[in-house]
Amino acid sequence: MIKIDNINLAQCLDSGTQSEIHLMKDAVVVWDGNLIEWVGSKSELPKKYKNIQTVDGQKALLLPGLIDCHTHLAFGGWRSDEFGERVAGVPYAEITARGGGISSTVKATRAATEDDLYSRSYDFLEKMRALGVTTVECKSGYGLSLDDEMKLLRVYRRLGESQPLRIVPTFLGAHLVPQGTTREEYCKLVVDKMIPEVAKNALAEFCDVFVDDHAFSVEEATLIVAKAKECGLQIKLHVDQLSNGKGAEFAAECGATSADHLEYISEDGIQAMKRSGTVAVSLPLATLYTFQKPLDARALIDAGVDVAIATDFNPGSAPSYHLPLAMMLGCTLNRMSPAEVLKAVTIKAAKALGKIDTIGSIEVGKKADFVLIDTPSIDHWMYHFTENANRLTVINGNTVFKA
Ligand SMILES: [Zn+2]
Repeated sequence: MIKIDNINLAQCLDSGTQSEIHLMKDAVVVWDGNLIEWVGSKSELPKKYKNIQTVDGQKALLLPGLIDCHTHLAFGGWRSDEFGERVAGVPYAEITARGGGISSTVKATRAATEDDLYSRSYDFLEKMRALGVTTVECKSGYGLSLDDEMKLLRVYRRLGESQPLRIVPTFLGAHLVPQGTTREEYCKLVVDKMIPEVAKNALAEFCDVFVDDHAFSVEEATLIVAKAKECGLQIKLHVDQLSNGKGAEFAAECGATSADHLEYISEDGIQAMKRSGTVAVSLPLATLYTFQKPLDARALIDAGVDVAIATDFNPGSAPSYHLPLAMMLGCTLNRMSPAEVLKAVTIKAAKALGKIDTIGSIEVGKKADFVLIDTPSIDHWMYHFTENANRLTVINGNTVFKA
């Protein structure tokens, strides 16, 4: 058994509004093995914990481990050659027409071996844990063939078994219709072959579909989601990113755990998500890199919808795994308060992964996943952006990063 004292604590319970982070001054957290055993103020610490091994928190801020609930972690190559052109205003359609965009990442990912993808992703995760990230959702979707999608999901399985961060794998075979096949053929492949194979090998917890004009229609997504649910997968969706396609309404209707992007969500979409309890995931790095209008997170929070924030780490629209950067942008682009953003990357992100019972807050019985941020307050942390304010990352009760 170990305790950490001399800390200020934000418990980030699910109860209360998104801005209630449950602050406690001069707190103590006790953990036994991989679980939290006791949480409270120092003055109330039971005698039996007084003489156990103690870590001095040096008045830093103890928070639940950060959760990045939307990434495309494993991919081949980069797309830095397109960056200057996109900044200069070259239309994405022009870049894709000559084989750039997602197709170039698909090509590079297919050419990469499983070991290449594994060691590259491992390095990313090592840097993410230094930033205080303890759980990462990882999507496939750059393989777009049965073998290559399985290859990506096997990389995530290996990562989950060989390094400390919690990995939540998502099958995103319906990311884009690959070149050399028709929409109909590809949807059939996803439904009849890929989803059953993913489920049979227990390679993913979620199935995601990119619902958009240039990706998959609501009708196509309906068939894919039905098969995924039949095979026991939970649902996440990329929706309403480039236009309003009633994606939020569709996500609510099919009981999706989360609907992500949502820059063009309508008032009807907001109300539908409120009724279904679907978590909205804001991806402000993608908004920034693609020069889009930001998601109006205020409208969602004020309507009572839970909002999470993630990086969307991918080589095209969000080439950064820096979750604290996305958090700062959650304040400045999405107009969320620093306290709301903190819950967006802890308890609300846990909700977006269907894992609210085990991670996302500092509570007795939950996993001992936490970080120690060197800052006088939550406001100061998100206002004074630095490369890394994290001093300590603990996952499952084990120290996995120390500054
Ligand atoms: Zn994405």
